Amino acid sequence: MAVTRTFSIIKPDATRRNLTGAVTKMLEDAGLRVVASKRIHMTEDQAGGFYEVHKERPFYGELVEFMTSGPVVVQVLEGEDAVKRNRDVMGATNPADAEEGTIRKTYAESIEANTVHGSDSDENAKIEIDFFFNEDEIVG
Ligand code: GDP
Ligand code: MG
Repeated sequence: MAVTRTFSIIKPDATRRNLTGAVTKMLEDAGLRVVASKRIHMTEDQAGGFYEVHKERPFYGELVEFMTSGPVVVQVLEGEDAVKRNRDVMGATNPADAEEGTIRKTYAESIEANTVHGSDSDENAKIEIDFFFNEDEIVG
């Protein structure tokens, strides 16, 4: 299996509860390495652009509001089959459906305030990484 990259966000519900370290530990314990990380407060334009694919969904406005409600930590993660590995440790979008031991089962507050984002394909991982990071900010 090849070593690949994925893009992760520790969302405002987690930074608010001081869970940055706890969430990162779960990512690291799952075999992912943080090769870039920064704490930012997303603008509405950034959040709106990032979630452009969800523009037509009824929760888009609320989602942008939530993602700009506090700081987030954006990260590039590296590991074997990183996208799937990360999705597995994140758990299902709705914490009520997430498996025991996953980040969302452990920490998520709701289907919206669900603690982490993770890319859903290698193609989207590249797009999302490029949205927030320059290559020289990524140190493998
Ligand atoms: P993910 O890939 O598991 O994060 O899920 P999606 O790509 O489908 O949705 C993106 C994000 O939108 C989720 O992580 C949630 O924060 C939010 N979201 C998804 N479904 C809902 C919903 O039904 N209601 C609300 N309020 N937010 C949602
Ligand atoms: Mg998604």
